[in-house]
Order: sequence, then structure tokens, then C-alpha cells
Amino acid sequence: MKSPAFEYIRAESVAGAMSAYAAAGDDVVYLAGGHSVVPSLALRLQAPALMIDLSEIAALSGISFQDGWLRIGAMTRHVQAINDPLIAAQAPLFAAAAPFVAHPAIRNRGTLGGSLAHADPASEFPAAAVAMRVELEIASPKGTRRVPADEFFLDIYETAIEPGEILLAIHVPSPVAGQVIGFDEIVRRQGDYAMVGAAVQAVAKDGVLEDISIALFSVGNRPTRAVAAQAALMGRVIDDASIADAKAALGDDLDPPDDLQFPATMRLHLARVLLGRILANLEAVA
Ligand SMILES: Cc1cc2nc3c(=O)[nH]c(=O)nc-3n(C[C@H](O)[C@H](O)[C@H](O)COP(=O)(O)OP(=O)(O)OC[C@H]3O[C@@H](n4cnc5c(N)ncnc54)[C@H](O)[C@@H]3O)c2cc1C
Repeated sequence: MKSPAFEYIRAESVAGAMSAYAAAGDDVVYLAGGHSVVPSLALRLQAPALMIDLSEIAALSGISFQDGWLRIGAMTRHVQAINDPLIAAQAPLFAAAAPFVAHPAIRNRGTLGGSLAHADPASEFPAAAVAMRVELEIASPKGTRRVPADEFFLDIYETAIEPGEILLAIHVPSPVAGQVIGFDEIVRRQGDYAMVGAAVQAVAKDGVLEDISIALFSVGNRPTRAVAAQAALMGRVIDDASIADAKAALGDDLDPPDDLQFPATMRLHLARVLLGRILANLEAVA
């Protein structure tokens, strides 16, 4: 199916994009890599009168340090998360997540900002963003603000970005010495959306966990922080007993829906299997 007709403009600045959006009313869509928005037009899930292309706006590009945080421009492509040494060193969960996202053709065009703004609950980058405790820099006509990842993802395909606002960048706090990460998903075929997935970041001293941050995806309406599983692990060594307690605690964190793929009980079971697998791998390095 072809998309309905729409006007197209390529914005040169954030202010220009936002004023074009305001002038056109709410019947507008921003374009980044296009790998979610273009299929949605072709499927006639939306039919905007105007598409505003953000890809040439310099303020949305670049990877640099700012006030001790890594600033990743929203237009950074998925493939850069695999290849960029700064992302590998400073935002390792994005680097670990990227190879799981679709296929090279999609990763060459898809952007980190687009993935976070789209907020598909089955996507890898949003969970990595929650686990790394990133902050999202959002521009509105009134100015810019930073929103912690835990408050950014509101519901399925819904974020703290208001209509007309633009996600400028992702700010990643610097990793602490000794920090380790784990990322994995259970999937029917490589490149498919995950049946369940998890991103984990941890800091241990003398083997005892001083910090642990766990986010799961494909388990509900948004990336889900596993608060109870984190509490079950804090201050303990990662071993069979603490892993078993964390897996049990996931029952308090997750309330997955029954869906056409499989029942909620199976999704919870898979989440427990996956978390146990990731933690067992962390045990070797923590
Ligand atoms: C066949 C296929 C398989 C895929 N498999 C996966 C997968 O396994 N895992 C996965 O995570 N994703 C997958 N994707 C989605 C892909 O990663 C998308 O590229 C990504 O979700 C959206 O990024 P984008 O840059 O293409 O955004 P676009 O499609 O351009 O935009 C997506 C949405 O975000 C908005 N938006 C984009 N940038 C901004 C911004 N800076 N500010 C405000 N709003 C913005 C747009 O208006 C739109 O609503 C797949 C896509 C396809 C086509």
C-alpha cells in the first residue's frame, strides 16, 4: 500500500522545524531515519498533511562530552552505536543493544533519537537508556529541558515529548570505575523484535553489588525498571541464591499482558530465564 500524499520540508534548524510544525497545526510528523514513521504511513496508520525532515539539523548531530556526560545527538544512527569508540566506552549498553536491532539496512538509517521518541515497548534502545539512567534533552518553543529516562517513557508509543517538541540529544552519565553491563534478548529469529529482553548495569566492590540497574523490554507497555529484582540483589554477591531471589522478585515487577504470541505466564517465565542468564554472566566479571 502507498502512503497518502503529504507536503515535505527539510528543516535547517530546531527553531525552524518547530515553527513550521506550529504553523501547520497538529497534522504533522517529524522524520528522522524513517524506519518506523514511513511504514506507518504506508500502512495508513497515520496520514499527516506535512512531514518535517530533521536529518539536516546540525544541533541533532554529533557525539561529544558536555559537563561530564556524553551527549549523543538524536540523529545518531543505530550503526554508529556499534562503531563509535566514545559510545562503546561511555554508553556501553547502547553499543551492546545495537546489534540486536533489526538488520544492517535498518541500522544504517534508523536513529537513536527516533527509536527513543517512537517508544516501541519491544525496542532495545529504550531499555538500554533506562538501565544507563540517561537524560533526554527536549526542545520546545519555550526552551529546553532534560527528562530522566525513568520519566520519559509513559506508555506504548508515548513519551514526555509533547506535540511539536523535538528530542535534541541523549545525555549519558559517565560509567563508574568497575561498572559491568549485560544485554540479551530471547527472540525467534535474529533481527526480529524480542519476545523478552533485558539491559543490566552493575557496580560491585569486592564482589558485593553497590549498584544495579535493570530494565526489561517486551514485557509491558514501556521499558520496565525491575525495582524488586534490583532490591533483591543490592548489597549481595551475585551467586545462585541472589540470582534465584532476583528471578522470584521479577513477579512483583512485571505484569505482562496475554497476547497473540503467548500467554503472560510464559513471558514472565522467559523474563526470569533471561535475567538469570545475564546475571550469571555478570557473576564472572563483577
Ligand atoms: C523491518 C524493520 C525491523 C525493525 N526491527 C527493529 C528491532 O528489532 N528493534 C527496534 O528497536 N527497532 C526496530 N525497527 C525500528 C527501527 O529501529 C526504527 O528505525 C526506529 O524505531 C525509529 O527510528 P527512526 O530514526 O527510523 O525514526 P522515524 O521512523 O523517522 O521516527 C519515529 C517516530 O519518532 C519521531 N521522531 C523521530 N525523531 C524525533 C526527534 N528527534 N524528536 C521528536 N520526534 C522524533 C517521528 O516523528 C516518529 O513519530 C525496525 C524497523 C523495520 C522497518
